[in-house]
Amino acid sequence: MWVHKKQAVSVKINTVQFRLQPVCRGPGGSSLWTVRNAVADKLLLFITKMSRRFLRILSAGLLTALVGCATERETLVNNTSHTFRTVVVDAGHGGKDSGAVRRYGPPEKVVALDVAKRVDQKLRESQLETVMTRSTDVFIPLDQRVAIENSQKNSVFVSIHFNDSRRRGVHGFETYYHSPAAYALAQRIQNKLLDLPGAVNRGVHPANYRVLRKATYPAVLVECGYLSNRGDGSSAWSEAYRDQLADKIAEAIIEERFGTGVYQGASRTASGRPAVSTTSPWSSPGSSSSLGVH
Ligand SMILES: [Zn+2]
Repeated sequence: MWVHKKQAVSVKINTVQFRLQPVCRGPGGSSLWTVRNAVADKLLLFITKMSRRFLRILSAGLLTALVGCATERETLVNNTSHTFRTVVVDAGHGGKDSGAVRRYGPPEKVVALDVAKRVDQKLRESQLETVMTRSTDVFIPLDQRVAIENSQKNSVFVSIHFNDSRRRGVHGFETYYHSPAAYALAQRIQNKLLDLPGAVNRGVHPANYRVLRKATYPAVLVECGYLSNRGDGSSAWSEAYRDQLADKIAEAIIEERFGTGVYQGASRTASGRPAVSTTSPWSSPGSSSSLGVH
């Protein structure tokens, strides 16, 4: 039988199909004929198809796993907004992390700590347990703050910051939350701050800050005004103003826990209780009522 060199030939012997296939032996060389069973061919084709499909499934699985690793799982939050016994008070920044340092206002790490200490004291006077993530000018990494907040069972977490913007005209209060379980507390704090004379509402917003996102209890972050703004910045120098900020934040926390009208902190302060003393090492530009000269 004559066939073209590269053409395969099918031969049937006892109902089993064979295929004769030329195999080139080398450049310009003659061809060998190999005999391949058609059943084996089909089996080979099937294995090839299956291994391709398996590889596709494997790679899709690997991709899903990689995406799963890259996307952090949502932290489950216990809604303790109306049952909490402990408040974790977090003063933003500290140590080598100064936070906002601007012309008109004091360094953020110092005023954040001052307001946080005042909130802490007011809450303790209201029979709540408190834990501060820092009470001195030290640097606490975010993960350590998260560990502290989550170690307190039946708690809420309140982080105190001041804000910063390149646009000096921006001013006002903002409060952030991540879990819907923290929204009511965030809204209440924001509303209380808006009671202050001349307060500007910049809203309550969801945010992905680590101390909020990783919290297992309701957690909020309060921005007590813009240190980059002349008005907010100069207010932040005032001890009386910082005490008012703390008072509003403490009142909101206590009302969220025990109901409206329960908080007595503001009237006690007005009746002449000594304010929380401050031992910050820095001084203000001029005013005798400012932090740092007492
Ligand atoms: Zn900050």
